[in-house]
Amino acid sequence: MEFSSNIASLQPSATMAVSALAKQLRAQGRDVIDLSAGEPDFPTPSWIAEGGLEAVRTGRTRYTPAPGLPELRQAVASDLSRRSRAGWSISPDSVVVTAGAKQALWNACFALFGPGDQVLIASPYWTSYPQMVGLCGADPVPVRGPEENGFKLRPEDLEAAAGPSTRGLIICSPSNPTGTVYTLKELEAVAEWARDRGVWILSDEIYRRIVFTGAGEDAPSLSDLPPSTLGPYVLVDGASKCFAMTGWRIGYSVTEPEVARKLAAFQSHTTSNAATPSQYAALRALSDPVRAQESIGNMVTAFLRRRNLMVEGFSRRLPGLTLVEPEGAFYLFFRVDGEYSKEVSDSQAWCSRVLETTGVALVPGAAFGDDRYVRLSYATSDDLLTEALRRLSEERE
Ligand code: PMP
Ligand code: GLU
Repeated sequence: MEFSSNIASLQPSATMAVSALAKQLRAQGRDVIDLSAGEPDFPTPSWIAEGGLEAVRTGRTRYTPAPGLPELRQAVASDLSRRSRAGWSISPDSVVVTAGAKQALWNACFALFGPGDQVLIASPYWTSYPQMVGLCGADPVPVRGPEENGFKLRPEDLEAAAGPSTRGLIICSPSNPTGTVYTLKELEAVAEWARDRGVWILSDEIYRRIVFTGAGEDAPSLSDLPPSTLGPYVLVDGASKCFAMTGWRIGYSVTEPEVARKLAAFQSHTTSNAATPSQYAALRALSDPVRAQESIGNMVTAFLRRRNLMVEGFSRRLPGLTLVEPEGAFYLFFRVDGEYSKEVSDSQAWCSRVLETTGVALVPGAAFGDDRYVRLSYATSDDLLTEALRRLSEERE
């Protein structure tokens, strides 16, 4: 069959593919522990879900404006402004509500990048960034900082990778897949480099509130930087991770109002508004900061306990598999190339062997731009994680 050149090099999402395979094996009766796709294993807090249910019950099930309910755009703007450490005062006109953070990233890539443009992508990267950039006809250029500092980018790394057609930079902190978190200073240095170069910075902050570095503090965000340190930017966040709302599909972008209008115009021709009841649920979540912090705090406590369980378990039982110390999100990114052989010579083969012999499903690092590594999501129960550790270490005995 012939397809258009638009999708000539399109690959399906590896994270989604492994998770689908795990489900299929389980349906066939295999005892699979799925540590592949990263999504909170908690239910959406009931007080938030009730906002969506109430919308359905009272007939608020029709279109909203393409960029979202005015009151939700206002709630996003107020929430971000309230949490900004640099006193930002965000206008609701800057906000576009989307069907998940994925759509916010896609809107931004499509509106900003095209043929002839290079887009730098902080590597290891979330698997969808290079695909999205490629779908826009632009060239994704992975760029990495020192491995010993969790791969975090410095201006000199960016300068070495940039060229005359560099138009964008995509970063993600806390990072999927490594869990590393930029300090405010590190983020500021990257933002200033992008400003001085006139490069768009797309900051994916979907894990911003899942962070272990300070009591109840969010990870540093673009919105914590003085506006003078920023050039053109799009900040992306959403409800999926921090409110355990992956299936509701609510994300958003924040940028200059002029850019937001373009993103909304694009969305008005593709998907229109994000699902209306879901917007009402997100509105509930963002309208009660105290309760929101309590719900997030409970989840972060569980993620931190599991993180510690895994980091300690790896160092005690799997010392050959060295990992990047995660400070946020809910992933472990660990090196497996010390175990490569003639038969098992890359991360895909390593994951296939482990799935075959232990039933533990993991995502090959190749999907994130580093074939020496493998990613594990610890957003699952302590019991399953303990069992996965047992199986992985027994496989090596
Ligand atoms: N960015 C990153 C880094 C992610 O891990 C995810 C999770 N799939 C997304 C964006 C997309 O989030 P959403 O489910 O809100 O589209
Ligand atoms: N963010 C998750 C992951 O990286 C969900 C799957 C996806 O959307 O890629 O595993």
